[in-house]
Parts: sequence; structure tokens; C-alpha cells
Amino acid sequence: MPDKFKSFNPVEKTLMGPGPSDVSPRVLAAQGQATIGHLDPQFVSLMDEIKDLLRYAFRTKNDVTFPVSAPGSAGMETCIVNLVEPGDKVIVCINGVFGGRMKENVERAGGIAVVVEDEWGEPVSVDKVEAALKANPDAVALGFVHSETSTGVRSDAEALCALAREHGCLTIVDAVTTLGGIPLEVDGWGIDAIYSGSQKCLSAPPGLSPVSFSAKALEKVRNRKAKVQSWFLDLNLVLGYWDGDGGRAYHHTAPVNAMYGLHESLVILHEEGIEKSWERHQRVHQQLHQGLGELGIEYLVDTPYRLPQLNSVLIPDHLQSGEADIRKELLTEHRLEIGAGLGALAGKVWRIGLMGHSAREENVTKCLEAMKVAMR
Ligand SMILES: *Cc1c(COP(=O)(O)O)cnc(C)c1O
Repeated sequence: MPDKFKSFNPVEKTLMGPGPSDVSPRVLAAQGQATIGHLDPQFVSLMDEIKDLLRYAFRTKNDVTFPVSAPGSAGMETCIVNLVEPGDKVIVCINGVFGGRMKENVERAGGIAVVVEDEWGEPVSVDKVEAALKANPDAVALGFVHSETSTGVRSDAEALCALAREHGCLTIVDAVTTLGGIPLEVDGWGIDAIYSGSQKCLSAPPGLSPVSFSAKALEKVRNRKAKVQSWFLDLNLVLGYWDGDGGRAYHHTAPVNAMYGLHESLVILHEEGIEKSWERHQRVHQQLHQGLGELGIEYLVDTPYRLPQLNSVLIPDHLQSGEADIRKELLTEHRLEIGAGLGALAGKVWRIGLMGHSAREENVTKCLEAMKVAMR
């Protein structure tokens, strides 16, 4: 151990992996402002504005819409530990890493997970989900990932939610990589519980997880027989802090400065307009797609299910054995981070993120130039 420690000064990088993505300088500046008390009236109004802005981003009127004071995974746990009681049957769709985590959470909450599996790189099969709903009329919820960051696949959330509703099931939707990046309609599609993350398409640092719950979902939480097994994530307690206007009761201390950052990122999204943000992600994705095509690089995912904000691309055969060195060169020589493949796709794909503040033409140009050099 050294005798003296110095302040930490990270080298600035361009973040084009699966998250965190580039953080807007405005967000960083907002986070550096003076810390105030978390029950200070000024902070309480900030909390109200964050809830309004999140309703705008999620396209919902849900009262219960707020950021959980922890990363996306905690948003997932909030949805599952509150909605799943011991013995509850939940249909869980797995077509990548994050669906697997949902199953793990359902089981830890004492639920019974009925798994609907699809190949990595494919969307969740609506037909298989329909068959599972028919075969399990006692299921209380359907859980799926809208944007699978591990593979770059978008599933048909609207169709899946319609099916769940027909069968009297609540829906739990992972929108961590979706929010701000591609169309999402919480009320329009009838989503009951949804979670996202600050560090993907919202351009804020990691650490916060926006969530939203429908009235129907809340009714299930309010009528639980068993207490929620997590004290920190129990909505019945957390809502004393986040719900209503003013008059908040202390539950935990919100990460005050992180909330400044999330607020600023949502103000930026609102200024741009959410539809414009979706269009920008699509436009910049087209630019990357064309440039990669010129380098002879193809996509893993078929066009209709392809996420613009997470580009899973096939590493050319002759480069696969040295792919880790290429990523290392991009990081050290070009200060550019792209993502590796996961699971069965490790060594076979790269994951290039175009999320939030990273979804800019200059990032695409930089990425294509750096890859051209590194692939030589
Ligand atoms: C990143 C991600 C998560 C987890 O979020 P953390 O902030 O890392 O906890 C969950 N689901 C998906 C689809 C993600 O991309």
C-alpha cells in the first residue's frame, strides 16, 4: 500500500458498449452542484419534477412512477419482490442474459417460474408465450425483456402485453435499454410494472432505476398476504417517501446529487422530444450499419427485431481469435469502448452501443475510423 493516495482522475473515453453510455456534460455539471438535504423543500420539488418527467418518458399517467435509489437490477427486484408472492406462478421469457436474471429473481421471491425459451439472437416467440399462458391458467404474471442488451434484440412488447391481459396476467417488463432509445408506450400497451436504468439511453451515470406501476399492479401489492421480503424495496414503505405531493416520510436518504443528474438528463430528453430521441437513435444506427457494411461486417439480428441502440455484429472469422486484442487496442489507442459478446456469443460478436448521448454522428465516425485501423 502506498503512503500517500492521490485523487482519482479517469481518462475520458467514448463509451459505445452495452452501458454505461456517454454522459452529457450538462448532466455531469448538474451532479456537481451543492448537496442539499433530502427533505429540503427544494429537493422535494425536484422529486416531483423527476416523477413528472419520468411519466413523460414512459408515456404513462401512473401515479407510482419514480427512480429506485440503485441500479437497474434493483428496479427489476423492486418489480418482482413486490408482485410475486410465495407460490405465485410467473411465466418468464428467456432469450438472453437478462431474462435469466428475471427467473432467478422470481424463484428467490418464492415464485414458480415457467420458462419460455428462445434462441439468443431471436425475439421472444409470441406463439410460445400464448401456449404457455393457455397451459398455465393460474399464472399471475408474464415477465420479459423488451430490449435484450446481451443480444441486441427487440421483442414485441405490445403483442406480449395484449396476450397477458387476455389471460388475466400482469406484465413485468425490462426496459433498461429501451427507455429513450426506441418506442415504448407504458399506458398504450398496458404494461403493469416496468423498470429501466439511468446509464443506457438516458445519458446519466449508472446508479438509478426508474420504475412505474399500474393501478392493477399496486392493487396486487396492497393485497399481499405475505410481507415483501426486502425491506428496502418494499413499495408499501418506499412510497411513503416518493408518493403524494409534499409531506414525505423518511425511508432512506435519496442519492441527492445523482437525482440532480437524472433530472437534468430527463430535462434534456424533454427538450429534444422523446419521439425525436427515438428517431435520432434510428438515424445514427443506420449510419453505423452502412459504415460497418463497408468494412464487411454483418449483423447478428434480423432487421425487424434489431435494436438501433445496441448493435450486435458478427466478428469476421479471421479476426475471432484476436478479437480481445482489437477491443483492447480500441480502448487504449483510441479511447473507445465497445462491448464483447456474452455466453455462447463470446468471441463471435461485438456489441456496439449507440445509447443516449453516445447516439451521435461524431461517435459513429470515430468508431468506424478506429475499427478500420484496429482491424488491420
Ligand atoms: C443493464 C441492464 C440491466 C441491469 O442494469 P444495472 O444498472 O446494470 O443493474 C438489466 N436489464 C437489461 C436489459 C440491461 O441492459
